[in-house]
Amino acid sequence: MEKRIVTVLNLLKRETAKLPLPWVTELAKQEKKPYLVLIAALLSVRTKDNTTKRASQRLFTRATTPQEMLELGYRTIAQLIYPVGFYHQKAENILRISQRLCNMYKGRIPRQRDVLMSFPGVGRKVANLVLGLSFGLPAICVDTHVHRISNRLGIINTKDVYSSERELEKVIPRHLWVELNTIMVSFGQHVCLPRRPLCSQCCLSRVCLKKGVENFH
Ligand code: SF4
Repeated sequence: MEKRIVTVLNLLKRETAKLPLPWVTELAKQEKKPYLVLIAALLSVRTKDNTTKRASQRLFTRATTPQEMLELGYRTIAQLIYPVGFYHQKAENILRISQRLCNMYKGRIPRQRDVLMSFPGVGRKVANLVLGLSFGLPAICVDTHVHRISNRLGIINTKDVYSSERELEKVIPRHLWVELNTIMVSFGQHVCLPRRPLCSQCCLSRVCLKKGVENFH
């Protein structure tokens, strides 16, 4: 691995150790239930972390298994998860996923990415997050934070999240694939912000190429 990438990763790990964990990571550490991690990851799509956290907590006080979720029904799930983005669609997807888990997988979460991605509303990002956080399988969950920060730092040079995943797999050691999402999401929420990153306070300022960054504090 390139020496600069080692330096960047070490600095990132040290910096984010002081920051709050992203909600889905925190949940995976608290609750060893892949089903809850899947549902929380689904809710987190296009939704701020605090909103996802509150919605998940409301929902999980009422249902923590696919069977219980089916008993809640569409209207109650939609009310509990509001105002996460696309809450109508997500409530429907939660029900359809729960039904399929009960019918075909004895209520358990499958460990194959392609199977997970065949579930309604589950894309590569959500599938990789669940595989990594719940089963410890090597998968890089590339969301907008991971894509943006890796490119700003100059670790990769890509235009879309799918290419980012491919390129990161080449340069990041396998044992860090799961952790990469946690540290970059934390960092992206608090320091390397999407619009105006806090470069003047950033521990990576000296090694960062700041690619594409025009406006910063
Ligand atoms: S120096 Fe700026 S652009 Fe680079 S990682 Fe830090 S906050 Fe992000």
